Amino acid sequence: MIPSVLPTYSRLPLSFVSGEGSWLVEADGRRFLDMGAGIAVNALGHAAPELVEALTEQASKLWHVSNLYTIPQQQALADKLVELTFADTVFFTNSGTEAAELAIKMARKYHYEKGAPRAQIVAMEGAFHGRSTGAIAMAGGDKMVKGFGPLMPGFTHVPFGDHEALKAAVTEETAAVIVEPIQGEGGIRVLPDVCLKGLRALCDKVGALLIFDEVQCGMGRTGRLFAHEYAGVTPDIMMSAKGIGGGFPLGAVLATEDAASGMKAGTHGSTYGGNPLGCAIGLKVTDVISDPAFLAEVNRKAGLLRQGLEGLVASHPGIFEEVRGTGLMIGLKCKVAPAEVVAAAQAEELLTVPAADNVVRLLPALNIPDGDIAEALARLDRAAGALAKEKAASA
Ligand SMILES: *Cc1c(COP(=O)(O)O)cnc(C)c1O
Repeated sequence: MIPSVLPTYSRLPLSFVSGEGSWLVEADGRRFLDMGAGIAVNALGHAAPELVEALTEQASKLWHVSNLYTIPQQQALADKLVELTFADTVFFTNSGTEAAELAIKMARKYHYEKGAPRAQIVAMEGAFHGRSTGAIAMAGGDKMVKGFGPLMPGFTHVPFGDHEALKAAVTEETAAVIVEPIQGEGGIRVLPDVCLKGLRALCDKVGALLIFDEVQCGMGRTGRLFAHEYAGVTPDIMMSAKGIGGGFPLGAVLATEDAASGMKAGTHGSTYGGNPLGCAIGLKVTDVISDPAFLAEVNRKAGLLRQGLEGLVASHPGIFEEVRGTGLMIGLKCKVAPAEVVAAAQAEELLTVPAADNVVRLLPALNIPDGDIAEALARLDRAAGALAKEKAASA
């Protein structure tokens, strides 16, 4: 018999009843150290007091009015994001997937309104942009698209890091190129700064728009507000979600005035997108994370974690291969199946997140205390030791 919850996820047998900072309490009372943060969502940890305050204050006033009206919280968050980034304008969604949908529409409409329609969007293999019909067609990948055809046409996929394939694929027919500056689901694969720069130049040359999907790598995760800031180039369109709501469903599409020029009244909409509650929380999250002192702390903490992980790779050469990523978006490339590492960590009451390319992700709260970093390293050390012992026994 089918479970009453549609079985599209393979879930771990854990259910949490409360959380505080980087800790989650299981129904049976066990306390788990959370290095996954709801897949890079709980950027300020669980039950962050300033977010609880922002939520309860807004919740007692007004949750939803629809976009028939001006929403001051939405306006304030848009103003803040415009002030902090390359963007001139923002549209709010409730998720990363919805942001992907608008990015596709905006890019195509841009060229249409310029009088020279282009539909083709070039994306990277191993990418993840969400699970809508458009987002799966855009990312490609058998696992996501199989059985869901006919797929939305107009997407070309190039192997990650293949410059020649990219140059061949991006032509004067290309509407846009979309990349994650750091692939998350794909296994914490960093697009080097020179590649982002090259991509910008390539797009400029052929008149294509450049879209960055910063749903996972953005909002302070890398130690800069947005990951692309390291490369010193800006996109025309950028997607944000996950961390921007700190755990409340919120997403955004940021764009330059030119890239957004096709999106006139009536061309797009969302019932819930940009609601007062979500935007009040997003504004608080953005205020906290965009503070240079906060971002400096993210970098310092990332250094601590990174150094410890390099040590674990050295002391468990049969389990781990390398550490990669930027800031607190870290991948541990494994020599065993990532699921085994996740399970061994879980036995130590440590939560991690698997990804593709044999990687286990560490995406902790950006304000994780130093003591919790040390504790996570100690637990991961024990987990790797236990796993190595198990492997030796069964060899
Ligand atoms: C999670 C993710 C998405 C999809 O976001 P949802 O909120 O799950 O719809 C899109 N792009 C990237 C890079 C992501 O990590």
